[in-house]
Amino acid sequence: MHPKRPPQLFALFAGTTVLPGVGAKLAAILEKRVGAHVIDVLRHLPVGLIDRRARPDLNNIVDGSIATFEILVVKHDKPPHGTRRPWRVLTENESGRLDILFFHARDDYVARMLPAGERRIVSGRVEIRQGRAQMAHPDHIVRPDDRASMPEMEPTYPLTAGLTPKALRRAIEGALDRVPDLTEWIPDEIMTRFDWPDFATAMRRVHSPETADDLLPTAAARARLAFDELLANQLALSLVRHAAADSTPGRSFAGDGSLTTALSSELPFSLTGAQRRAIDDIRNNQISERRMLRMLQGDVGSGKTLVALFAMLQVVEAGAQAALLAPTEVLARQHHKTINGFLAPLGLEARLLLGQGRAGGTGNAGRRQVIEELANGSAQIVIGTHALISENVTYHNLGLAVVDEQHRFGVRQRIMLGQKGQGVDVIVMTATPIPRSLAMTAYGDLDHSRLDEKPAGRLPIDTRALPLDRLADVVARLHSALADGKRAYWICPLVEESEKLDVAAAEERHAALSKALPDLTVALAHGKMKAAERDSAMQAFRDGDAQLLVATTVVEVGVDVPDASVIIIEHAERFGLAQLHQLRGRVGRSDTASSCLLLYQGPLSETANARLGVMRETNDGFEIAERDLELRGPGEFLGQRQSGLPEFVLADLAAHRDLLGLARDVASNMLDDQDRPIDPGKTDMLLSLFERDSAVRFLASG
Ligand code: ADP
Ligand code: MG
Repeated sequence: MHPKRPPQLFALFAGTTVLPGVGAKLAAILEKRVGAHVIDVLRHLPVGLIDRRARPDLNNIVDGSIATFEILVVKHDKPPHGTRRPWRVLTENESGRLDILFFHARDDYVARMLPAGERRIVSGRVEIRQGRAQMAHPDHIVRPDDRASMPEMEPTYPLTAGLTPKALRRAIEGALDRVPDLTEWIPDEIMTRFDWPDFATAMRRVHSPETADDLLPTAAARARLAFDELLANQLALSLVRHAAADSTPGRSFAGDGSLTTALSSELPFSLTGAQRRAIDDIRNNQISERRMLRMLQGDVGSGKTLVALFAMLQVVEAGAQAALLAPTEVLARQHHKTINGFLAPLGLEARLLLGQGRAGGTGNAGRRQVIEELANGSAQIVIGTHALISENVTYHNLGLAVVDEQHRFGVRQRIMLGQKGQGVDVIVMTATPIPRSLAMTAYGDLDHSRLDEKPAGRLPIDTRALPLDRLADVVARLHSALADGKRAYWICPLVEESEKLDVAAAEERHAALSKALPDLTVALAHGKMKAAERDSAMQAFRDGDAQLLVATTVVEVGVDVPDASVIIIEHAERFGLAQLHQLRGRVGRSDTASSCLLLYQGPLSETANARLGVMRETNDGFEIAERDLELRGPGEFLGQRQSGLPEFVLADLAAHRDLLGLARDVASNMLDDQDRPIDPGKTDMLLSLFERDSAVRFLASG
């Protein structure tokens, strides 16, 4: 089945330029921050509320408060050309005087808005300066007979450069005018139980809050829309599952056990119980005719790659090919190296395929050869980057696709790999532990295996927190550790808003540490470097030519340097728990003791303090994920980037957790025994409106 966009919704899926005041330029700005369509504007919810009802006497104002006044414009004090002085408009009413200030004013604008001798209503922040009441750049200036156009309670929205509150408000109002009345898809019983408004009313209400309570995730209008989004997510996942299990008749990959048995006996360690269970589940799934679409979830170091390797060998035994897709070249090379280490005793060799013209890549001739071997079937196992799914790569008989670190890939890419053959099984490996209570938003009914057990003998990572003003001590201790032959990471924070500044900070830290540790080699890796340069820095660190690697969070995912045993995270208070845990997982990858130092800038907020506490207390990713969820207040969204969860715009997983189970039940009632929509019109409506990942819809189409 393929969800079709119902015609009633066309008005909501028009480009934003149909909205009042939105031209090409504003549309481009909106697209970046909000989205490209009318519906995206509606989903951009207010975060605050300005109360403009206060109309104090001018001789009795509260400095810094928001207030509204009706005033008479007395005269303009226009600054001489070329001075920095603001344009001052002197006004008054019965209760006193008010100076209205404009900086960098355009001549006609101020004169037009506040003509001398006329009355106006102005609203904004008032301040007292040298005993005079003044207001700089009022938020609103309206004629007395137009007072109704000024909102008394005004919602505020997340903004961005070039997007003014006024322009956004106008666009939202235009968008609200386009909301059609739709047939209700939520069962009556639930609507009554929660006293929820219908969709159109809910949209209007979330954009016109009257009290602070209306902004809470629990407010009826917000909860309703959050529920819609969760419901669409659950429906989409069921449909994906249906498509995976049903649309492509799976294939049975039954091997003779020769390779997997050989691998087991070659291993210098014994598998964990969780690994055994996962390997068995996967094998059964592979043998069955049912197509596999499975998440393999496990903390860093829990041994996912090895589990995947067992699955790959099973496919090879059955005469088919297996591919492992890594998010970066560094990771592809790393997997290639480790996997070939395991394969050598079995007389097998995995191929490596990277993008064209990539520095340090496999070279054009080498690439052509691998592509040919994949096409004729002589290559059985291939590891690579996106190159694996490029158009000119065909497979003789692909049976299994393993995708590493799913959150760096779109669903579409995962699917494309699955489509490189008939009934290809797919395993998605993710190192981001997702709390059990939320697993269903990420997987729905998809099969999944959890590696919730660490290999025996792993030492917990000794974790401490220290304020940044102890930097000198830290560097001294680091020096002696490195002189002892240890290798360390120094992580500098990367805040997306201003990558440039962060890179500068990393470069500065690199220079300072190089200077402080003159007898050692300090490498640098950050996101703004050329890939080749960055790879060679990491390589130097891996080979031990550099003892310290100063890096931004580019090392976050999957980089494996078992000899590194110290990690220092600067400004640890800026990172989320999931990310701290990921970063810490860069060490503790061998049987030597490792340590993690969280350098923070005080004073710490209560949650930042709690986060650092959790890091000190436990090394268990699943537990950290649960604690993370508890620590997040309502309104703190679990971003996909950090959590591995799908990104919700209206739902707040911390606040709406109780709605999730309900959404799942309602979703399953909307599908028949074979997971087919009972009322396709409603299902299409929901998916169109709320399931943002169009690739999920694409997959649902089989
Ligand atoms: P993940 O991909 O889950 O982070 P890896 O598969 O890279 O973990 O495993 C981390 C390291 O642990 C690898 O060097 C791997 O060979 C090793 N390893 C895997 N399983 C076990 C085990 N059961 N006992 C000991 N070491 C293991
Ligand atoms: Mg199968």
